[in-house]
Amino acid sequence: MPRYILAVDAGTTNNRAVLYEERGQIAGVAQRELTQHYPAPGLVEHDPQEIWQGIVEAIQELLAAQRIAPSAIAALGITNQRETTLIWERHNGRPIMNAIVWQDRRTAPICERLEAEGLAPYVQEHTGLRIDAYFSATKIAWMLEKVAGARQKAERQQLCFGTVDSWILWKLSGGRLHCTDYSNASRTMLFDIHTKQWDATLLKALQIPPSLMPKVIPSSGICAESDSAILGESVLIGGIAGDQQAALFGQGCYRRGTAKNTYGTGCFLLMNIGERPTHSQQGLLTTIAWALEQEGALKIDYALEGSVYMAGAVIQWLRDELHLIKDAAASQKIAQSLSDNGDVYLVPAFSGLGSPYWDMYARGTIVGLTRGSGPAHIVRAALESIVYQSSEVLSSMQEDSGIAIESLSVDGGACQNDFILQFQADMSAIPVRRPRVIESTSRGAAFLAGLACGYWHSTAQLEEYWELEGSFEPQIQQSQRQQLLQRWKMAVERARGWAQ
Ligand code: ADP
Repeated sequence: MPRYILAVDAGTTNNRAVLYEERGQIAGVAQRELTQHYPAPGLVEHDPQEIWQGIVEAIQELLAAQRIAPSAIAALGITNQRETTLIWERHNGRPIMNAIVWQDRRTAPICERLEAEGLAPYVQEHTGLRIDAYFSATKIAWMLEKVAGARQKAERQQLCFGTVDSWILWKLSGGRLHCTDYSNASRTMLFDIHTKQWDATLLKALQIPPSLMPKVIPSSGICAESDSAILGESVLIGGIAGDQQAALFGQGCYRRGTAKNTYGTGCFLLMNIGERPTHSQQGLLTTIAWALEQEGALKIDYALEGSVYMAGAVIQWLRDELHLIKDAAASQKIAQSLSDNGDVYLVPAFSGLGSPYWDMYARGTIVGLTRGSGPAHIVRAALESIVYQSSEVLSSMQEDSGIAIESLSVDGGACQNDFILQFQADMSAIPVRRPRVIESTSRGAAFLAGLACGYWHSTAQLEEYWELEGSFEPQIQQSQRQQLLQRWKMAVERARGWAQ
């Protein structure tokens, strides 16, 4: 009897293999660092072969360390850094160049052209996204234009485009499968999230031949067996989702109105909005959370997504530039040593402000200092700023969707900070729940694969495996909440437009 589910987590900085047991617990982890290539300022690339090699090695190391054979694995799930773009030759699987990573800004001029052509409303209406170099579409166009011979080959149907999940699936299946799942497809800026088809208008606008595009398959469903040459025996492949969507799934956010926030260097917030996509008036993205096969039908859940650029990064700044704390964890006690914020606010608009302000000229500021203000006020204001920014994204989500968020599940490095989570519960007036397993991303991929092969039976069963570690209930009055938020907004106004 297979006893485990294997998750492959192809992240931006490393590739990992994580083994899950029946109750959703981690049995083992192995990983390989991934080299970051910076050919010029603003450009970021990964070597596709290194990604694949890292994954194979991580799986082999994990199985050896756990002393288990591939036959002990019921199914394998894939989760991946999203939007990163690869093109390879159909007949031999050779990439035409390095992968262009999501952070890479080289295609900004193509985005400007699309803007000038007036495509922004069309892009939002059909793909749920904003025109941005971040997404795969313009990266594909760039490769076809710049790599010698690529356009001719593409027109002769000799090339395959894929995000990192497609690449891994292609390699795992021994070059038989050219597919991606709905969650990853919805991050390309080429996928119509309403008709669930590749969008002919956008493909044409970017001169991308439709034959380049992978077939779109459910996020949970057995799609292939891995080539037995890779691990010695074949393993069923049953789940795929982009990292943020996988994290939402791993956090048990299966119902409309549930949300998660990952407090890392930045924050990534996603809210499940159910089976109907709503478009944001405030610059949030609408995306496909996952597509599950249920009783022969496809059940698609949508999500609203927003992010905060500076979250844990502000804490690093306190530590490395201001030397106010010796490590990130010390910030909690310092903030808790004060009974209130002393009316001091820090707006960490170090590189502008995102949702709902979208002001690239905003810059960081500290306001409200008095003779009595000290380092603790600045540390507290920094932690509070993470929460204010997240609260504003959560408010936008509720306004845009018309759905009240019932609870917020959290993960990421800074979710260890109780001060942040209590203040989040207070400012957003919703319960904040920290799970015992905060490894949500790979867990989500494992859950998707486990559901597909019958290892687990329902999302209700998976919810039982979500164990609460810390719970934070709102404790302040609405009037106090409003007052704090109003002061924050005043502080933001002082940060705006500074670099213009
Ligand atoms: P990423 O995946 O974005 O690299 P992580 O999820 O590993 O980030 O989280 C690391 C971030 O969390 C760092 O920016 C660090 O400053 C912050 N962090 C870690 N522990 C704490 C803590 N106890 N309190 C506040 N911030 C923390």
